[in-house]
Amino acid sequence: MKKLEDYVINIPDFPKPGIIFRDITSILRDPEGLKLSVHELMHCLEGTEFDVVVGAESRGFLFGMPLAYNKSKGFVPVRKKGKLPRETVSREYALEYGTAEIEIHKEDIRPGQRVVFVDDLLATGGTAKAAIDLIEQLGGVVVKVLFVMELQGLHGRDALKGYDVEAVITYP
Ligand code: 5GP
Repeated sequence: MKKLEDYVINIPDFPKPGIIFRDITSILRDPEGLKLSVHELMHCLEGTEFDVVVGAESRGFLFGMPLAYNKSKGFVPVRKKGKLPRETVSREYALEYGTAEIEIHKEDIRPGQRVVFVDDLLATGGTAKAAIDLIEQLGGVVVKVLFVMELQGLHGRDALKGYDVEAVITYP
């Protein structure tokens, strides 16, 4: 039987020379891959009590939504600056070159809500940490930080110390 990592296509030198891009669209295009990805992520959530799923733009939406739906919870997006129509809180964070800014609707996380944060891939942890900071700024409690893939060599877990971090696939 195929494992989830068998569905990931690795693309050398994308988007820049020296980077191996882990493509998840090759998971989603396949009915069995899609089903397996949701199944594996759902498995990671067993025993976790939570109220809402927060997903990071854009691949975090693809995996966060089916989890929220299957667990009968709501879904809240974290988006790149300028996309959300209501009042937001935002956070700037460092990229390899330059900075990025993400935001979340202010009224969509209520104090005390237990949040599962989902994204496709953990690299340096910068994106996840910025999203977690936003959730906590609004009073949310992050009970699980969940990824389809983790690039261990980039030490993203160091940026997420103290959180319950899980990834389905880990690359060295
Ligand atoms: P970090 O903020 O942890 O350094 O980077 C994680 C973010 O970059 C995630 O939102 C993820 O979508 C994106 N990302 C970086 N490298 C890859 C990759 O190889 N494959 C995929 N699918 N996403 C990546």
